[in-house]
Amino acid sequence: MKSFTLKNSIRKITGSAAILLIVFLLTGCREKAEKVTGTDTAMGTMIQQTIYVQGNVNVKERKLTDSVMDEIWRLEEETLSWRIDSSAVSQINQSAGSEEGAEIPEDLAGILDQVWDVSRKSGGALDVTIGDVVRLWKIDDWVNTSASSPDAVFTIPDTDEVMSALKHTGYEKVTFQGNKIFLPEMMTLDLGAVGKGIACDRVAAYLEKREEVTGAVISVGGSILTLGSKPDGSLWNVGIVHPRKNGEYIATLELEGGWFVSTSGDYERFAEADGVRYHHIIDPGDGYPAGSGVVSVTILSRDGMMSDALSTACFVLGVDKGLALAEDMGAEALIISSTGDSYMTEGMKCFLK
Ligand code: FAD
Ligand code: MG
Repeated sequence: MKSFTLKNSIRKITGSAAILLIVFLLTGCREKAEKVTGTDTAMGTMIQQTIYVQGNVNVKERKLTDSVMDEIWRLEEETLSWRIDSSAVSQINQSAGSEEGAEIPEDLAGILDQVWDVSRKSGGALDVTIGDVVRLWKIDDWVNTSASSPDAVFTIPDTDEVMSALKHTGYEKVTFQGNKIFLPEMMTLDLGAVGKGIACDRVAAYLEKREEVTGAVISVGGSILTLGSKPDGSLWNVGIVHPRKNGEYIATLELEGGWFVSTSGDYERFAEADGVRYHHIIDPGDGYPAGSGVVSVTILSRDGMMSDALSTACFVLGVDKGLALAEDMGAEALIISSTGDSYMTEGMKCFLK
């Protein structure tokens, strides 16, 4: 009787050990995802990364966040910058007025297609041929000087100068032939309205290929991407900055992985003169900072470039036309008016915390 009980106990213990081993194999050996973070600058703005990685020590050693920055810097230097002479956009700008035009590199071709599509659908509210006018306002330039604030170096350009710069703008004046683009004389492209969204697309594509990455939230200035999931399975929280209360959020979005959020506002890059706020989002209709009665536009989309393009376009269009455009393009929008009221597409409500 005794030996039977002992055998039984041994069997039970061996059985439990086997179950424990199986449970361990299924779950225990899968290491908990580890958080990797990084902060850096590119495209004149701050890049903040939070990435969860699992299982591959090499990835951590090779500094995943550095390789993400390499992707963004390469995009800026080789493709988007209008300051670096060798970039594709600079080459296009240098070709303005020439009969030969400029070749569009493969990675830029799809981007320009989408940008021109938004320009047409927004009636020109987004117009990346506005480079000359943007340079005239010099709202961004103070960052590159020793001035302590934009107001110290800001001067309102003459109406004549604005009118004259406007003559060199107009997306509809650009022609495309095969893989070539032809800009009229003196026109300059400025992809500042879409650059950060494009960077988010690039980073998302890069991280998706890394098996070790289980989730990420990356912010490139006013554009943010979510990817995969958090280790605890909860949704990503993306805060929307309060346009008038420094350091506060006006709303929070709860998102799964695979979303892109871009915000355009009049509160980060602006200068004040005689009590008037001059910001960096220009109405291509008159060449002056857009006065559409809105102070912040947030767009939620499955495409980074689209979220950024629409945030700028909807800012210029104002509440009603802006909401209609976002809906037309299959995106969600949250617009804050200058009176502090919030307006949003129906779909956006589902994502607000
Ligand atoms: P968004 O609303 O997304 O875009 C506004 C920007 O788009 C404006 O600054 C202007 O450039 C352009 N724009 C304005 N109105 C329109 C319109 N109606 N249609 C189309 N475009 C419009 N900043 C620096 O201070 N120093 C730098 O060295 C620098 N380098 C950069 C390099 C790259 C490749 C990029 C993409 C940006 C860089 N920037 C730099 C930032 C840039 O100058 C803009 O300030 C920034 O892109 C604005 O982004 P946003 O999300 O705040 O606003
Ligand atoms: Mg934008």
